Amino acid sequence: MTQRILILGAGFAGLWSAVGAARQLAETRRAHGPIEILVVNARPFHSIRVRNYELDAEASRVPLADVFEPIGVAWVQGTVQHIDVAARKVQVATAEGAKTFDYACLVMALGSALVRPPIPGLADYAFDVDTDEGAVKLLEHLRSLPLQPDSAGRYTAVVIGAGLTGSEIASELPARLAKIACGAAGTRVLLLDHAPRIADQMGEAQRVIEQALREMGVELRPGVRVARVLAGDVALESGEIIPASTTIWCAGMRASALTKAFPVTLDTLGRIPVDEFLRVKGVPGVFAAGDCANFPIDGTNDCVMSCQYSRPMGRFCGHNAAAELLGEPLLPLRIDWYITCVDLGPWGAVYTEGRERRLATEGAQAKRTKQLINRHRIYPPTNRNREDILRAAAPVVEAAPSKNVAAAT
Ligand SMILES: Cc1cc2nc3c(=O)[nH]c(=O)nc-3n(C[C@H](O)[C@H](O)[C@H](O)COP(=O)(O)OP(=O)(O)OC[C@H]3O[C@@H](n4cnc5c(N)ncnc54)[C@H](O)[C@@H]3O)c2cc1C
Repeated sequence: MTQRILILGAGFAGLWSAVGAARQLAETRRAHGPIEILVVNARPFHSIRVRNYELDAEASRVPLADVFEPIGVAWVQGTVQHIDVAARKVQVATAEGAKTFDYACLVMALGSALVRPPIPGLADYAFDVDTDEGAVKLLEHLRSLPLQPDSAGRYTAVVIGAGLTGSEIASELPARLAKIACGAAGTRVLLLDHAPRIADQMGEAQRVIEQALREMGVELRPGVRVARVLAGDVALESGEIIPASTTIWCAGMRASALTKAFPVTLDTLGRIPVDEFLRVKGVPGVFAAGDCANFPIDGTNDCVMSCQYSRPMGRFCGHNAAAELLGEPLLPLRIDWYITCVDLGPWGAVYTEGRERRLATEGAQAKRTKQLINRHRIYPPTNRNREDILRAAAPVVEAAPSKNVAAAT
Protein backbone atom coordinates (compact mmCIF):
# COMPACT_ATOMS: atom_id res chain seq x y z
CA MET A 1 0.00 0.00 0.00
CA THR A 2 1.26 3.48 -0.87
CA GLN A 3 2.34 5.56 2.10
CA ARG A 4 1.77 9.29 1.76
CA ILE A 5 3.85 12.22 3.00
CA LEU A 6 1.28 15.02 2.96
CA ILE A 7 2.71 18.53 2.94
CA LEU A 8 0.42 21.47 3.69
CA GLY A 9 1.63 24.69 2.05
CA ALA A 10 4.13 25.40 -0.74
CA GLY A 11 5.75 28.55 0.64
CA PHE A 12 9.40 28.51 1.64
CA ALA A 13 8.92 25.80 4.25
CA GLY A 14 6.45 23.62 2.32
CA LEU A 15 8.14 23.72 -1.07
CA TRP A 16 11.52 22.88 0.43
CA SER A 17 10.01 20.14 2.59
CA ALA A 18 8.62 18.52 -0.55
CA VAL A 19 11.91 18.75 -2.43
CA GLY A 20 13.83 17.63 0.66
CA ALA A 21 11.61 14.56 1.04
CA ALA A 22 11.92 13.75 -2.69
CA ARG A 23 15.69 14.07 -2.45
CA GLN A 24 15.86 11.69 0.49
CA LEU A 25 13.66 9.12 -1.29
CA ALA A 26 15.90 9.39 -4.36
CA GLU A 27 19.07 8.97 -2.28
CA THR A 28 18.08 6.10 0.00
CA ARG A 29 19.54 2.66 -0.50
CA ARG A 30 16.99 1.10 1.79
CA ALA A 31 14.32 -1.06 0.14
CA HIS A 32 10.88 0.42 0.66
CA GLY A 33 7.32 0.22 -0.59
CA PRO A 34 5.69 2.97 -2.64
CA ILE A 35 5.79 6.43 -0.99
CA GLU A 36 3.90 9.37 -2.44
CA ILE A 37 4.69 13.01 -1.69
CA LEU A 38 1.59 15.18 -2.05
CA VAL A 39 1.54 18.96 -1.55
CA VAL A 40 -1.60 21.05 -0.97
CA ASN A 41 -1.30 24.77 -1.66
CA ALA A 42 -3.83 27.55 -2.14
CA ARG A 43 -2.12 28.83 -5.30
CA PRO A 44 -0.62 27.04 -8.31
CA PHE A 45 2.69 28.81 -7.70
CA HIS A 46 5.36 29.21 -5.04
CA SER A 47 5.13 32.81 -3.89
CA ILE A 48 8.40 34.59 -3.16
CA ARG A 49 6.51 36.46 -0.47
CA VAL A 50 9.45 38.62 0.58
CA ARG A 51 9.23 40.44 -2.79
CA ASN A 52 5.61 41.56 -2.39
CA TYR A 53 6.67 45.17 -1.85
CA GLU A 54 8.33 45.26 -5.28
CA LEU A 55 6.80 46.41 -8.56
CA ASP A 56 6.78 43.20 -10.55
CA ALA A 57 4.32 40.62 -9.22
CA GLU A 58 5.15 38.09 -11.98
CA ALA A 59 8.80 37.85 -10.90
CA SER A 60 7.78 36.60 -7.48
CA ARG A 61 5.83 33.56 -8.73
CA VAL A 62 7.37 30.17 -9.49
CA PRO A 63 4.92 27.67 -11.03
CA LEU A 64 4.72 24.60 -8.76
CA ALA A 65 4.71 22.35 -11.84
CA ASP A 66 8.23 23.57 -12.78
CA VAL A 67 9.64 22.37 -9.47
CA PHE A 68 7.46 19.38 -8.62
CA GLU A 69 6.88 17.62 -11.95
CA PRO A 70 10.58 16.90 -12.68
CA ILE A 71 11.02 15.27 -9.25
CA GLY A 72 7.76 13.32 -9.13
CA VAL A 73 6.04 15.30 -6.38
CA ALA A 74 2.22 15.45 -6.72
CA TRP A 75 0.34 18.63 -5.84
CA VAL A 76 -3.22 19.82 -5.49
CA GLN A 77 -4.44 23.40 -5.62
CA GLY A 78 -6.85 23.86 -2.75
CA THR A 79 -7.50 25.35 0.64
CA VAL A 80 -6.92 23.25 3.73
CA GLN A 81 -10.11 23.40 5.80
CA HIS A 82 -9.68 20.90 8.57
CA ILE A 83 -6.92 18.72 10.01
CA ASP A 84 -7.93 15.62 11.97
CA VAL A 85 -4.78 14.45 13.72
CA ALA A 86 -6.44 11.48 15.44
CA ALA A 87 -7.83 10.08 12.16
CA ARG A 88 -4.76 11.22 10.15
CA LYS A 89 -6.97 12.98 7.61
CA VAL A 90 -6.97 16.46 6.04
CA GLN A 91 -9.96 18.08 4.36
CA VAL A 92 -9.27 20.34 1.40
CA ALA A 93 -11.62 22.58 -0.61
CA THR A 94 -10.70 22.42 -4.31
CA ALA A 95 -12.28 23.75 -7.50
CA GLU A 96 -13.70 20.23 -8.03
CA GLY A 97 -15.22 20.11 -4.55
CA ALA A 98 -14.14 18.89 -1.12
CA LYS A 99 -11.42 16.24 -0.95
CA THR A 100 -10.02 14.28 1.98
CA PHE A 101 -6.44 13.07 2.07
CA ASP A 102 -5.00 10.63 4.56
CA TYR A 103 -1.34 10.45 5.46
CA ALA A 104 1.37 8.34 7.01
CA CYS A 105 3.34 11.49 7.70
CA LEU A 106 2.15 15.10 7.79
CA VAL A 107 4.18 18.28 7.32
CA MET A 108 2.43 21.42 8.57
CA ALA A 109 3.80 24.42 6.63
CA LEU A 110 0.88 26.80 6.21
CA GLY A 111 2.95 29.79 7.24
CA SER A 112 1.68 33.00 8.75
CA ALA A 113 -0.63 35.89 7.97
CA LEU A 114 -0.79 39.57 8.75
CA VAL A 115 -2.91 40.34 11.79
CA ARG A 116 -5.44 43.16 11.40
CA PRO A 117 -6.60 44.50 14.78
CA PRO A 118 -10.21 45.74 15.05
CA ILE A 119 -9.44 49.36 14.12
CA PRO A 120 -12.60 50.67 12.43
CA GLY A 121 -12.25 50.61 8.63
CA LEU A 122 -8.91 48.77 8.63
CA ALA A 123 -10.30 45.50 7.27
CA ASP A 124 -12.25 47.28 4.52
CA TYR A 125 -9.94 50.05 3.38
CA ALA A 126 -6.32 49.19 4.17
CA PHE A 127 -4.12 47.45 1.61
CA ASP A 128 -1.26 45.12 2.46
CA VAL A 129 1.81 43.47 0.94
CA ASP A 130 1.44 40.27 2.95
CA THR A 131 0.23 38.06 0.13
CA ASP A 132 0.54 37.93 -3.63
CA GLU A 133 -3.16 38.84 -3.91
CA GLY A 134 -2.71 41.78 -1.53
CA ALA A 135 0.30 43.06 -3.47
CA VAL A 136 -1.54 42.83 -6.81
CA LYS A 137 -4.56 44.66 -5.37
CA LEU A 138 -2.29 47.47 -4.16
CA LEU A 139 -0.51 47.72 -7.53
CA GLU A 140 -3.82 47.92 -9.37
CA HIS A 141 -5.11 50.56 -6.95
CA LEU A 142 -1.99 52.70 -7.36
CA ARG A 143 -2.24 52.48 -11.15
CA SER A 144 -5.88 53.59 -10.96
CA LEU A 145 -5.14 56.78 -8.99
CA PRO A 146 -4.91 59.11 -12.03
CA LEU A 147 -8.44 58.02 -13.01
CA GLN A 148 -9.90 58.91 -9.62
CA PRO A 149 -11.49 62.32 -8.96
CA ASP A 150 -9.05 64.95 -7.80
CA SER A 151 -8.86 65.13 -4.01
CA ALA A 152 -6.47 66.28 -1.30
CA GLY A 153 -5.17 62.78 -0.62
CA ARG A 154 -5.28 61.27 -4.10
CA TYR A 155 -1.50 60.81 -4.25
CA THR A 156 -0.92 60.36 -0.53
CA ALA A 157 -0.02 56.96 0.92
CA VAL A 158 -0.02 56.20 4.62
CA VAL A 159 1.97 53.15 5.69
CA ILE A 160 1.13 51.91 9.18
CA GLY A 161 3.79 49.87 10.93
CA ALA A 162 7.47 50.87 10.65
CA GLY A 163 9.05 47.44 10.94
CA LEU A 164 10.83 45.61 8.14
CA THR A 165 7.90 45.34 5.75
CA GLY A 166 6.59 48.85 6.39
CA SER A 167 10.04 50.38 5.85
CA GLU A 168 10.43 48.46 2.58
CA ILE A 169 7.12 49.49 1.02
CA ALA A 170 7.47 53.08 2.33
CA SER A 171 10.86 53.26 0.58
CA GLU A 172 9.35 52.18 -2.74
CA LEU A 173 6.42 54.54 -2.70
CA PRO A 174 7.83 58.08 -3.18
CA ALA A 175 9.33 57.24 -6.59
CA ARG A 176 6.41 55.03 -7.56
CA LEU A 177 3.76 57.61 -6.66
CA ALA A 178 5.69 60.41 -8.39
CA LYS A 179 5.75 58.33 -11.58
CA ILE A 180 2.05 57.51 -11.36
CA ALA A 181 1.14 61.13 -10.62
CA CYS A 182 3.18 62.29 -13.66
CA GLY A 183 4.41 65.41 -11.89
CA ALA A 184 1.06 66.34 -10.32
CA ALA A 185 1.57 68.20 -7.06
CA GLY A 186 0.83 66.67 -3.69
CA THR A 187 2.48 63.25 -3.65
CA ARG A 188 3.12 62.32 -0.02
CA VAL A 189 4.22 59.16 1.78
CA LEU A 190 3.85 58.92 5.55
CA LEU A 191 5.18 56.12 7.74
CA LEU A 192 3.37 55.77 11.08
CA ASP A 193 4.14 53.71 14.14
CA HIS A 194 3.09 53.74 17.76
CA ALA A 195 6.70 53.03 18.83
CA PRO A 196 8.75 56.06 19.89
CA ARG A 197 11.09 55.62 16.90
CA ILE A 198 10.73 54.45 13.30
CA ALA A 199 12.21 50.95 12.81
CA ASP A 200 12.60 50.79 16.55
CA GLN A 201 13.58 47.10 16.60
CA MET A 202 16.33 47.45 14.04
CA GLY A 203 19.34 47.92 16.35
CA GLU A 204 22.21 49.76 14.63
CA ALA A 205 20.23 49.88 11.38
CA GLN A 206 17.58 52.11 12.96
CA ARG A 207 19.39 55.38 12.26
CA VAL A 208 20.24 54.25 8.73
CA ILE A 209 16.63 53.42 7.93
CA GLU A 210 15.45 56.71 9.41
CA GLN A 211 18.02 58.71 7.44
CA ALA A 212 17.25 56.86 4.17
CA LEU A 213 13.51 57.41 4.53
CA ARG A 214 13.98 61.11 5.29
CA GLU A 215 16.26 61.55 2.27
CA MET A 216 13.63 59.94 0.06
CA GLY A 217 11.04 62.38 1.38
CA VAL A 218 9.02 59.98 3.53
CA GLU A 219 7.31 61.81 6.42
CA LEU A 220 8.07 59.91 9.61
CA ARG A 221 5.43 59.84 12.33
CA PRO A 222 6.53 57.70 15.29
CA GLY A 223 4.53 57.69 18.52
CA VAL A 224 1.08 57.88 16.93
CA ARG A 225 -1.95 55.59 17.01
CA VAL A 226 -4.52 55.10 14.27
CA ALA A 227 -8.16 55.53 15.33
CA ARG A 228 -9.88 54.63 12.05
CA VAL A 229 -9.36 54.26 8.32
CA LEU A 230 -11.66 55.35 5.48
CA ALA A 231 -11.29 55.17 1.70
CA GLY A 232 -10.09 58.78 1.61
CA ASP A 233 -8.38 59.43 4.93
CA VAL A 234 -6.81 58.11 8.12
CA ALA A 235 -7.76 59.47 11.56
CA LEU A 236 -5.26 59.40 14.41
CA GLU A 237 -6.16 59.08 18.08
CA SER A 238 -4.87 62.66 18.52
CA GLY A 239 -7.77 63.82 16.32
CA GLU A 240 -5.60 64.60 13.32
CA ILE A 241 -7.06 63.56 9.96
CA ILE A 242 -4.64 62.69 7.15
CA PRO A 243 -6.28 62.78 3.71
CA ALA A 244 -4.98 59.66 1.89
CA SER A 245 -6.37 57.47 -0.89
CA THR A 246 -3.92 54.71 -0.01
CA THR A 247 -3.43 53.15 3.42
CA ILE A 248 -1.20 50.10 3.82
CA TRP A 249 -1.26 48.01 6.99
CA CYS A 250 2.12 46.41 7.81
CA ALA A 251 2.02 45.52 11.50
CA GLY A 252 2.23 42.04 12.99
CA MET A 253 2.23 38.44 11.78
CA ARG A 254 0.65 35.37 13.32
CA ALA A 255 0.92 31.68 12.43
CA SER A 256 -1.89 30.05 10.41
CA ALA A 257 -5.02 29.54 12.52
CA LEU A 258 -4.93 25.85 11.52
CA THR A 259 -2.08 25.32 14.01
CA LYS A 260 -4.93 25.06 16.54
CA ALA A 261 -5.76 21.64 15.10
CA PHE A 262 -2.77 20.11 16.90
CA PRO A 263 -2.96 18.97 20.52
CA VAL A 264 -0.06 21.13 21.67
CA THR A 265 0.40 24.44 23.49
CA LEU A 266 1.03 27.14 20.90
CA ASP A 267 3.40 30.03 21.56
CA THR A 268 2.33 33.69 21.65
CA LEU A 269 2.55 33.91 17.84
CA GLY A 270 0.38 30.81 17.43
CA ARG A 271 3.34 28.58 16.51
CA ILE A 272 3.65 24.85 17.08
CA PRO A 273 6.51 23.64 19.30
CA VAL A 274 8.84 21.30 17.42
CA ASP A 275 12.10 19.58 18.33
CA GLU A 276 15.39 20.06 16.47
CA PHE A 277 14.26 17.41 13.98
CA LEU A 278 11.13 19.50 13.20
CA ARG A 279 8.88 16.84 14.78
CA VAL A 280 5.79 18.20 16.50
CA LYS A 281 6.31 17.44 20.15
CA GLY A 282 4.07 14.63 21.34
CA VAL A 283 2.25 14.10 18.02
CA PRO A 284 3.64 11.05 16.20
CA GLY A 285 3.93 11.26 12.42
CA VAL A 286 3.60 15.06 12.32
CA PHE A 287 6.32 17.58 11.44
CA ALA A 288 6.07 21.37 11.15
CA ALA A 289 8.32 24.01 9.59
CA GLY A 290 8.48 27.69 8.72
CA ASP A 291 6.44 30.46 10.30
CA CYS A 292 4.03 28.04 11.96
CA ALA A 293 6.75 26.21 13.92
CA ASN A 294 9.15 27.21 16.67
CA PHE A 295 12.13 25.84 18.56
CA PRO A 296 15.44 27.24 19.85
CA ILE A 297 17.07 27.20 16.42
CA ASP A 298 20.55 28.24 17.60
CA GLY A 299 20.26 26.19 20.77
CA THR A 300 18.98 29.20 22.77
CA ASN A 301 16.87 31.66 20.79
CA ASP A 302 13.45 31.06 19.27
CA CYS A 303 13.00 31.00 15.50
CA VAL A 304 12.27 34.36 13.91
CA MET A 305 9.41 34.15 11.42
CA SER A 306 11.51 34.55 8.31
CA CYS A 307 12.37 33.22 4.92
CA GLN A 308 15.96 32.75 6.04
CA TYR A 309 14.83 30.15 8.59
CA SER A 310 11.83 28.73 6.70
CA ARG A 311 13.91 27.43 3.79
CA PRO A 312 16.40 25.38 5.85
CA MET A 313 13.60 24.30 8.19
CA GLY A 314 11.84 22.99 5.09
CA ARG A 315 14.86 21.14 3.73
CA PHE A 316 15.55 19.42 7.05
CA CYS A 317 11.86 18.77 7.71
CA GLY A 318 11.32 17.06 4.35
CA HIS A 319 14.49 15.04 4.74
CA ASN A 320 13.44 13.92 8.22
CA ALA A 321 9.86 13.13 7.27
CA ALA A 322 11.09 10.78 4.53
CA ALA A 323 13.87 9.40 6.74
CA GLU A 324 11.39 8.54 9.48
CA LEU A 325 9.20 6.56 7.06
CA LEU A 326 12.29 4.80 5.72
CA GLY A 327 13.61 4.01 9.21
CA GLU A 328 16.75 6.09 8.63
CA PRO A 329 18.46 8.50 11.05
CA LEU A 330 17.01 12.00 11.33
CA LEU A 331 19.16 15.13 11.10
CA PRO A 332 18.97 17.93 13.71
CA LEU A 333 18.80 21.52 12.47
CA ARG A 334 20.88 24.22 14.10
CA ILE A 335 21.59 27.64 12.63
CA ASP A 336 24.08 29.83 14.45
CA TRP A 337 23.71 32.99 12.37
CA TYR A 338 20.92 35.51 11.89
CA ILE A 339 20.93 38.51 9.56
CA THR A 340 18.50 41.12 8.31
CA CYS A 341 18.70 42.86 4.98
CA VAL A 342 16.14 45.64 4.51
CA ASP A 343 15.50 47.08 1.06
CA LEU A 344 15.41 50.87 1.11
CA GLY A 345 14.31 51.40 -2.48
CA PRO A 346 16.36 53.82 -4.61
CA TRP A 347 18.45 54.72 -1.52
CA GLY A 348 19.92 51.21 -1.27
CA ALA A 349 19.53 48.79 1.63
CA VAL A 350 20.88 48.00 5.07
CA TYR A 351 22.40 44.70 6.20
CA THR A 352 22.77 43.72 9.87
CA GLU A 353 24.23 40.73 11.66
CA GLY A 354 23.15 39.02 14.86
CA ARG A 355 19.96 39.21 16.91
CA GLU A 356 21.07 42.60 18.23
CA ARG A 357 21.39 43.82 14.59
CA ARG A 358 24.93 45.10 14.28
CA LEU A 359 25.40 47.24 11.19
CA ALA A 360 27.34 45.34 8.50
CA THR A 361 26.79 47.31 5.29
CA GLU A 362 24.46 49.98 3.96
CA GLY A 363 23.53 51.83 0.77
CA ALA A 364 24.51 50.41 -2.63
CA GLN A 365 26.70 47.68 -1.10
CA ALA A 366 23.83 46.27 0.99
CA LYS A 367 21.47 46.64 -1.99
CA ARG A 368 23.64 44.24 -3.99
CA THR A 369 23.29 41.67 -1.20
CA LYS A 370 19.53 42.25 -1.06
CA GLN A 371 19.15 41.78 -4.80
CA LEU A 372 21.21 38.61 -4.70
CA ILE A 373 18.95 37.28 -1.95
CA ASN A 374 15.63 38.35 -3.49
CA ARG A 375 16.40 37.44 -7.10
CA HIS A 376 18.59 34.35 -6.80
CA ARG A 377 19.41 32.83 -3.42
CA ILE A 378 15.86 32.08 -2.27
CA TYR A 379 14.57 30.67 -5.58
CA PRO A 380 14.37 26.97 -6.35
CA PRO A 381 15.94 25.99 -9.68
CA THR A 382 13.41 26.83 -12.41
CA ASN A 383 15.10 24.95 -15.26
CA ARG A 384 13.02 21.78 -14.69
CA ASN A 385 16.23 19.80 -14.21
CA ARG A 386 15.63 16.97 -11.74
CA GLU A 387 19.24 16.75 -10.52
CA ASP A 388 19.53 20.50 -9.96
CA ILE A 389 16.26 20.67 -8.05
CA LEU A 390 17.09 17.71 -5.78
CA ARG A 391 20.64 18.96 -5.18
CA ALA A 392 19.30 22.32 -3.99
CA ALA A 393 17.43 20.59 -1.16
CA ALA A 394 20.46 19.00 0.51
CA PRO A 395 19.90 19.13 4.29
CA VAL A 396 22.79 21.46 5.02
CA VAL A 397 22.92 24.96 6.48
CA GLU A 398 24.16 27.54 4.01
CA ALA A 399 26.56 30.33 5.01
CA ALA A 400 25.02 33.76 5.60
CA PRO A 401 24.62 35.90 2.46
CA SER A 402 27.81 37.72 1.49
CA LYS A 403 28.13 41.34 2.57
CA ASN A 404 30.75 41.99 -0.11
CA VAL A 405 28.83 41.36 -3.32
CA ALA A 406 30.82 43.01 -6.10
CA ALA A 407 29.18 45.58 -8.38
CA ALA A 408 28.39 44.28 -11.87
CA THR A 409 30.99 45.51 -14.36
C1 LIG B 1 6.70 42.01 2.32
C2 LIG B 1 7.44 40.98 3.14
C3 LIG B 1 8.82 41.05 3.21
C4 LIG B 1 9.52 40.10 3.93
N1 LIG B 1 10.89 40.19 3.98
C5 LIG B 1 11.61 39.23 4.56
C6 LIG B 1 13.04 39.27 4.53
O1 LIG B 1 13.64 40.20 4.03
N2 LIG B 1 13.71 38.23 5.09
C7 LIG B 1 13.07 37.18 5.68
O2 LIG B 1 13.74 36.25 6.13
N3 LIG B 1 11.72 37.12 5.74
C8 LIG B 1 10.97 38.11 5.21
N4 LIG B 1 9.60 38.06 5.24
C9 LIG B 1 8.94 36.96 5.98
C10 LIG B 1 8.81 35.71 5.12
O3 LIG B 1 8.14 36.02 3.91
C11 LIG B 1 8.05 34.63 5.86
O4 LIG B 1 8.67 34.42 7.10
C12 LIG B 1 8.06 33.33 5.04
O5 LIG B 1 7.29 33.52 3.87
C13 LIG B 1 7.52 32.14 5.83
O6 LIG B 1 7.56 31.00 5.02
P1 LIG B 1 6.47 29.84 5.22
O7 LIG B 1 6.72 28.83 4.17
O8 LIG B 1 6.42 29.42 6.62
O9 LIG B 1 5.08 30.58 4.93
P2 LIG B 1 4.54 31.23 3.60
O10 LIG B 1 5.66 31.72 2.75
O11 LIG B 1 3.51 32.20 4.02
O12 LIG B 1 3.86 30.01 2.84
C14 LIG B 1 2.67 29.41 3.31
C15 LIG B 1 1.98 28.77 2.13
O13 LIG B 1 0.82 28.11 2.60
C16 LIG B 1 -0.28 28.49 1.80
N5 LIG B 1 -1.47 28.42 2.63
C17 LIG B 1 -1.74 29.10 3.76
N6 LIG B 1 -2.93 28.72 4.27
C18 LIG B 1 -3.41 27.77 3.45
C19 LIG B 1 -4.57 26.94 3.46
N7 LIG B 1 -5.49 27.00 4.43
N8 LIG B 1 -4.71 26.05 2.45
C20 LIG B 1 -3.79 25.94 1.47
N9 LIG B 1 -2.68 26.68 1.43
C21 LIG B 1 -2.49 27.59 2.39
C22 LIG B 1 0.04 29.89 1.33
O14 LIG B 1 -0.70 30.20 0.18
C23 LIG B 1 1.54 29.78 1.08
O15 LIG B 1 1.80 29.28 -0.19
C24 LIG B 1 8.85 39.03 4.57
C25 LIG B 1 7.45 38.97 4.51
C26 LIG B 1 6.75 39.93 3.81
C27 LIG B 1 5.25 39.85 3.74
